[in-house]
Amino acid sequence: MAHTPYPESYYAASANTTPPRPALQHDVETDVCVIGAGYTGLSSALFLLENGFRVTVLEAAKVGFGASGRNGGQIVNSYSRDIDVIERSVGPRQAQLLGQMAFEGGRIIRERVAKYNIQCDLKDGGVFAAITAKQMGHLESQKRLWERFGHTQLELMDQKRIREVVACDQYVGGMLDMSGGHIHPLNLALGEAAAVESLGGTIYEQSPAVRIERGTNPVVHTPQGKVRAKFIIVAGNAYLGNLVPELAAKSMPCGTQVITTEPLGDALAKSLLPQDYCVEDCNYLLDYYRLSGDKRLIFGGGVVYGARDPANIEAIIRPKMLKAFPQLKDVKIDYAWTGNFLLTLSRLPQVGRLGDNIYYSQGCSGHGVTYTHLAGKVLAEALRGQAERFDAFADLPHYPFPGGQLLRTPFAALGAWYYGLRDKFGY
Ligand SMILES: Cc1cc2nc3c(=O)[nH]c(=O)nc-3n(C[C@H](O)[C@H](O)[C@H](O)COP(=O)(O)OP(=O)(O)OC[C@H]3O[C@@H](n4cnc5c(N)ncnc54)[C@H](O)[C@@H]3O)c2cc1C
Repeated sequence: MAHTPYPESYYAASANTTPPRPALQHDVETDVCVIGAGYTGLSSALFLLENGFRVTVLEAAKVGFGASGRNGGQIVNSYSRDIDVIERSVGPRQAQLLGQMAFEGGRIIRERVAKYNIQCDLKDGGVFAAITAKQMGHLESQKRLWERFGHTQLELMDQKRIREVVACDQYVGGMLDMSGGHIHPLNLALGEAAAVESLGGTIYEQSPAVRIERGTNPVVHTPQGKVRAKFIIVAGNAYLGNLVPELAAKSMPCGTQVITTEPLGDALAKSLLPQDYCVEDCNYLLDYYRLSGDKRLIFGGGVVYGARDPANIEAIIRPKMLKAFPQLKDVKIDYAWTGNFLLTLSRLPQVGRLGDNIYYSQGCSGHGVTYTHLAGKVLAEALRGQAERFDAFADLPHYPFPGGQLLRTPFAALGAWYYGLRDKFGY
């Protein structure tokens, strides 16, 4: 059988030791079959196990193979579209519920790390950096908005103050969120997988779900086995393919790329990011960066359609890094990789049920480290019969991408080009 390894990333090269996990080669009966061992699947599995469910996780490749093991590692609060957008598009009760949940994912991550002693270089502090005065104005409104929902660890920074936390001359100011922060994303996923197993859950790797037989007790088929369950949670996100055709039309996989420098040494690393906060700028096609535990700069940027090989990725992302930090011009790039996130037209998560027993959550559109951890909790609540918070997400409206499956990529590339231009000219 084909064996799918991790892509060659800094994270795979610095992953904590993890036991080999078998492929499913027999038939299993369980309460919940989770498809996908990224944060959505693992967080769901953990909350379900903690509430007495039996759980089997099927992973097509390896734990954290998808976005969860390749991302920028930034713990960013709220959703890819903020609560004010939600408030304008849904009723007050639903908006209130979604607003209250917008800051829960980061707390869940910290609770998980502490409870299960997960070694993932967790650091506090995330910066939103404004390149234009208009973006700074947005951050001022964002602070007021977030404070209205009880989220208070925020500081607005003027040009002088932001220079104390990021050695980059591009910014006119920013906002520091001390409940943001960063992690080694693959090690977080591996730690969560170990926690799942410590509670009696089973994870099969190299075990893609290839078919779902729907019905009262649905069955998930893999190439060499099957899982009969009371419930299924579909958590394959951008890597799901067409397993559940209903989900494909309203979401679209998009690639984003990351590079990692050689270790910079303490002095150079500290001169760039003295407090070791992570940073993302406020552009629509944003750049994001942070230091790793061993003092490399991990830098990701933009959405590039179709750039796949590492040389190509370095050619695209390195100039962005040098624009922010020209002082790194002689520094070598050790790793370059790509990963897929799942975009929806509204950029809000796509959540729901198919029939009574198939649940899904996907499509957090770029910012998903915190949301996916919340999603696990909300999915577990729904399976326990408390669906109010789940329904607040499930009732969000979603629309198909213009152009359908065939033309949605060129349409979205056109959209990205348009927003790139807006970023460039400061609109
Ligand atoms: C390069 C990159 C950088 C990012 N940076 C950030 C960031 O800094 N901060 C932030 O908040 N968000 C970031 N994101 C987004 C964030 O990583 C994702 O939103 C989040 O990890 C999604 O988690 P998930 O579990 O839903 O999906 P994934 O992590 O993609 O997991 C899905 C899993 O399902 C498996 N799977 C798929 N189909 C099947 C099947 N049929 N059978 C079995 N298994 C299957 C896949 O192999 C995969 O392991 C980034 C994303 C990328 C790609």
